Amino acid sequence: MISLIAALLKKTGTGLDLLEINQHCNKVKKALQAREESKHQALLTGFGIKNDADDTLETIEAPRFTPILIIVPSSVVDNWQNEFKTWGHFNVGVYAGSNREKALDRIKDGLDFILITGKSLFTRAGDYDELAQVEWKVVIVDEYHEFKNGKSQSFKRLQDLRDNCECPIVGMTGTLMQNKHEELFFLIDLVRPGLIGSKEAFRNEISRPITYARAKDAKQKVLDLAEEREQILRNAIRPAFLERKKEVVLKDELTEKKEEVIFCELTDIQKKIYRHIIALPDYQQLRFANAPCDCGVNKQYFRGYKKMKTHREQLDYQRRNKGILTLKKECCYRYPWNPLRDEPGEPQIEPDAILWKQSHEKEIGCPIDIAQNVIDGKYVACQNCPTCTTLVAMHKLYKISSHPNLLQVDRLESAAAQKKKLEFAKVAFTPEILKEMPGGSYYKSDGIMDDHMKLSGKMRTLDYCLTKFLKRRNRVLVFSYSTAALDVIQNHIKVSEYLYLLSIKMMLYEMYSKGSFLS
Ligand SMILES: [Zn+2]
Ligand SMILES: [Zn+2]
Repeated sequence: MISLIAALLKKTGTGLDLLEINQHCNKVKKALQAREESKHQALLTGFGIKNDADDTLETIEAPRFTPILIIVPSSVVDNWQNEFKTWGHFNVGVYAGSNREKALDRIKDGLDFILITGKSLFTRAGDYDELAQVEWKVVIVDEYHEFKNGKSQSFKRLQDLRDNCECPIVGMTGTLMQNKHEELFFLIDLVRPGLIGSKEAFRNEISRPITYARAKDAKQKVLDLAEEREQILRNAIRPAFLERKKEVVLKDELTEKKEEVIFCELTDIQKKIYRHIIALPDYQQLRFANAPCDCGVNKQYFRGYKKMKTHREQLDYQRRNKGILTLKKECCYRYPWNPLRDEPGEPQIEPDAILWKQSHEKEIGCPIDIAQNVIDGKYVACQNCPTCTTLVAMHKLYKISSHPNLLQVDRLESAAAQKKKLEFAKVAFTPEILKEMPGGSYYKSDGIMDDHMKLSGKMRTLDYCLTKFLKRRNRVLVFSYSTAALDVIQNHIKVSEYLYLLSIKMMLYEMYSKGSFLS
């Protein structure tokens, strides 16, 4: 719709529009000033007042515009105004609230070309009378189907406006035909009077035969007639449409949407870290949480199991006795116990179970804690242990699969976040791995010289794709789940001279093509 309006107003979609608006407004303002002065002069000299605005406007060659009225549901007036701001330079006024008189004056004076108003205000008697005084070039109605009731006040107002101004009405709707054919008649007749004949003829020839055919026991003859009439109706209303089907409008611009998932193989260092991480106590705990406990509690189960001879019997036994099994997570592996916890001075919890410790470390002091399961004097075990750490554990794996840098500590983060990350980094990076990490440190460096190709399989794939797309002058939008990952990508593009040059060229190209986008 905005492009239709842009075409009506002969917009170029460039900065020239703004220039033209300023020139136009200056001319109009001068004309208005001249009129005021001549009024004043006339009063002083006692001669008659020359107040023919048209005359004055003509004398200074202010361009005349007949304005456009846009009627929208009252709740979206602001959205429409913002759309105009987004898509180009338009002089747009809003007829709403206490400023509506002013907005109307600006339209009458020729300062604004477009006036947006809400449907309810348009329908209101006093306001309709004001709006109907203007000679509109075209009236655009958003959510046009809301005017389908021929007896409603809003419909009558629109009909009156059309007859008074003799201006075309453009209705916008996604659902022209809602329930009854009669509604369709009103909507079509309003924008193209007489196109589908009189209301009576329409009812007898079109709407009745079609309705009869909807009866459950309709005879073939009735069905045939209805089909014929429907075809007539379709042909009759076609000239009333400015259809905007996405496939038609953008036929040459839109390529088919294709989704392709590319699996990126991890680099050697990623694999090394991944394998190390899933062997950490936090991960062992999660991986084997649903296995039968090995402490002897399931002795009876296994004794019975051994008696089963065939594979089929074994399966059957498993199914029948599943209920009596005690799982690791319910028994001896509920918390990541330290295997050496019986020795003097050893903590109860495995020192490397960083994720569990971080999720359960609490300020102890409230008497209620004593009733709960407090371990090592600072951890409060929760109801869902050990699976309570699943999400945070998965997230670490996601990070390592994305880029090893994401597990390094970012000095820009809060002290608390840094402390947590450092604790995990210390168990995730063995001394051997640490040597291969950027900067050889637990901390993230600026990474100007980082060899992302060696570090991350995803970066390697992205680099390959970007180079290809940009060479073909495709525009590329990169989305990521995490801003940290985007930072790494941005750094990489900046450092990779070739990609950076290409992407700058692409940005210029985009700006250039946007200039001609609206025209
Ligand atoms: Zn056990
Ligand atoms: Zn827990």
